Amino acid sequence: MRVLVISDIHANFTALETVLADAGAVDETWCLGDLVGYGPDPNEVVERVRGLPNLTCLLGNHDVAAIGKIPFESFNGDARRALEYHEKALTKENMDFLLSLPSSLTVKGDASLVHGSPRDSIWEYILNALSARLNFAHFTTPWCMVGHSHLQCMFRLHPENERVTLESLKVNEAMILKPRLIMNPGSVGQPRDRDPRAAYAIYDTEEKKWEPRRVTYDIRAVQKRIREAKLPEKHAMRLMEGW
Ligand code: ZN
Repeated sequence: MRVLVISDIHANFTALETVLADAGAVDETWCLGDLVGYGPDPNEVVERVRGLPNLTCLLGNHDVAAIGKIPFESFNGDARRALEYHEKALTKENMDFLLSLPSSLTVKGDASLVHGSPRDSIWEYILNALSARLNFAHFTTPWCMVGHSHLQCMFRLHPENERVTLESLKVNEAMILKPRLIMNPGSVGQPRDRDPRAAYAIYDTEEKKWEPRRVTYDIRAVQKRIREAKLPEKHAMRLMEGW
């Protein structure tokens, strides 16, 4: 089965459409959360995602805030302004869809899926080998797919000495998966690894392959809509440089 793995779309419809076209035909789509927050297109993104066939979708921290389950005060000023805009803009159907999504760790075959980390599904960032190491005891499958950090990366646990290392990934090249791993497909709509291209991954469940992918999209079109919506300029600027 060929699975499209996406995360952190953040109301960036242009990036999402580009990723879906670039991915081609897939059997399932797994979305690790944060459909809304930051960007100009919350309704377009939620509508497009909820229409995808064979979808498994989790809530991210921005989604949880948009549906009113955590206070906006948990976010910094610029992130909060976008959430206030999204909360007002979201249609009832799109709000109901977000309300129907789980936020807890979800197991799909060999993979555990979660937005933040296995031990703190909404808030913890897995940013380095230390935070990854602390999380391997909190899932039982060979690998765990996480989002939230907006970094396309992979961490490996070496069972012989319990060490955890950051793997070097080759973009647009499939690699064979061997237990145990924590991997992040990167962010579709707001990459933060200094590569502004939209990030995602293709996962092959039978061949146990993972292909981290990047694709260029029309960033200027998204910046224009951010400015038209009077969302914080910072959200427009960061897209061009990937931070
Ligand atoms: Zn996010």
